[in-house]
Amino acid sequence: MTRIFNDPADFADEALAGFCDAHPDLVRPVEGGAVRRNRPATPKVAVITGGGSGHYPAFAGIIGPGFADGAVVGNIFTSPSAQQAYSVAKAANSGAGVVFTYGNYAGDVMNFGMASERLAAEGIRAENVIVTDDIASASPGEIEKRRGIAGDFVVFKVMGAAAEAGLDLDSVVRLGRKANGLTRTIGTAFSGCTFPGAEQPLFSLPEGQMGLGLGIHGEPGLFDTELPSAVELGQELVRRVLAETPAGASQRLAVILNGLGSTKHEELFVLWRTVAPLLRDAGYTLVMPEVGELVTSLDMAGVSLTLTWLDDELEQYWTAPALTPAYRRGSVGFDAGISEVADEDLVTEAANYSSTDESRAYAAQCLNALDTTSSLLRASESMLGDMDAIAGDGDHGRGMVRGSAAANEAAAAAFERGAGAGSLLAAAGDAWADKAGGTSGVLWGAGLRAFGERLGDAETPTPVVLAASVRAFADRIAGLGKAEIGDKTMMDALLPFAASLEERIASGASVGDAWSAAADDARHAAAATADLRPLKGRARPLAEKSLGTPDPGATSLAMVFAAVGPHFTAVPVAAVTN
Ligand code: ADP
Ligand code: MG
Repeated sequence: MTRIFNDPADFADEALAGFCDAHPDLVRPVEGGAVRRNRPATPKVAVITGGGSGHYPAFAGIIGPGFADGAVVGNIFTSPSAQQAYSVAKAANSGAGVVFTYGNYAGDVMNFGMASERLAAEGIRAENVIVTDDIASASPGEIEKRRGIAGDFVVFKVMGAAAEAGLDLDSVVRLGRKANGLTRTIGTAFSGCTFPGAEQPLFSLPEGQMGLGLGIHGEPGLFDTELPSAVELGQELVRRVLAETPAGASQRLAVILNGLGSTKHEELFVLWRTVAPLLRDAGYTLVMPEVGELVTSLDMAGVSLTLTWLDDELEQYWTAPALTPAYRRGSVGFDAGISEVADEDLVTEAANYSSTDESRAYAAQCLNALDTTSSLLRASESMLGDMDAIAGDGDHGRGMVRGSAAANEAAAAAFERGAGAGSLLAAAGDAWADKAGGTSGVLWGAGLRAFGERLGDAETPTPVVLAASVRAFADRIAGLGKAEIGDKTMMDALLPFAASLEERIASGASVGDAWSAAADDARHAAAATADLRPLKGRARPLAEKSLGTPDPGATSLAMVFAAVGPHFTAVPVAAVTN
């Protein structure tokens, strides 16, 4: 249960604000998260962690000398947006490049990846180190598919210490990837966690049972079993992690016995009493082990065991001093930094727009399209949610409503400031991605930005340019989501739409007729996804349940494209020439 909150929707932001207020000597809030209070005296690599809220002390709790330079803080269990990651990176960058490091979840990978591209375009080198320590989440043959859980902590610590020691970006990244390659975790859950304001836990287990390998957000694990004794549990965890000992690994181990949020420290120590001797009996030296809460999952009851097989350089950085709100180790004279982050490094609301009158006229129509989209999705929220609940997590309606409302609001603000059609849609896309949450929100937001970028701020789009902008929307989503036709995603409606629009325009149909015919094609294609099994996204593990129900993302996309046609295609006759 979470008992202390105001509006549940504000919980993550309020927690971050309170955290920053309580640790003013070490951290300061910035748009999208938090960074160290002071800039380093000499440029150093900025190590930026991140992910959803609800995992304290991950991720903001480990900002400080010897550890992270910043944390990007999303909503509860929700990836932060690319815009948030970009903003935190700008504030944390001191001139030696940045490295984003985070657990392997699709939303985080996409958003940090997009932020990296944006930083690179500005000449700031940005690398990504993705943690994949959870041995229950995929087989040893598919390590790159594994999720990141408490092993995050070791990887972040090694990188933070290496950056503090002045190593360059390539070396910090190399060390991070090495630490990840030598880190394995197995977790087990006893009971689910409950969102602020929610009446039911996010997931639950029968009384007296535990879910071995169950993910920290309720993702399916290995199996459920009767709750064993502490000794049996310790034996099981040690046996499973040691079974995955990397080839040629050393006999020196960093060990984390991690509580997930409502497992008492006393329980962890009882378990440690079994775990530590078993590891020592197996010939290992335990190097600065940690028993406590390092990566949590709200009030989930559960525990995980992480081992990192150390070599000399990993051990050096694992044991190096650190001074952060949630974690302190050793003491040396740190470079206390010189000054606060300069204002010009803080990302704030943009910008002045320059656009033509022609594009302004079309921008007004785009704004109407977004308004229509937002109303339509509001009216369809529960239908889409129910559809997503069959094999997904039931949040598709909510996410689309939040995303489209934020997009509409941002577009209206951009219009007020003089945006042309392209900038208006790009701003709408950023807001959509920022506020929607969920995979579909990231994809819609990035797609809309690409649509706007193709459209530009100069001319009223010709039918050919409009079709090309739809294609840019589709290409961006395909590039990020990597789904193909038949995977049962929104691509199954989007690609037929884009192709049909292009073909009809090429063969001389009016843009209005071409759009509405393409929308019909998309609607049929979306309905036909009922016969498919999902091969991408959250619905994949429950593929069989999904048979007979169309894909929610394809359904909402077809609806929206049908509804916005009149706005996008109502172009001044004079402009419709090629
Ligand atoms: P989440 O899956 O994160 O809960 P939503 O419920 O809002 O997000 O959206 C689910 C929809 O997202 C799916 O129905 C599917 O159409 C779409 N989707 C999921 N993964 C992908 C992907 N990799 N590429 C394209 N679309 C995807
Ligand atoms: Mg969903």
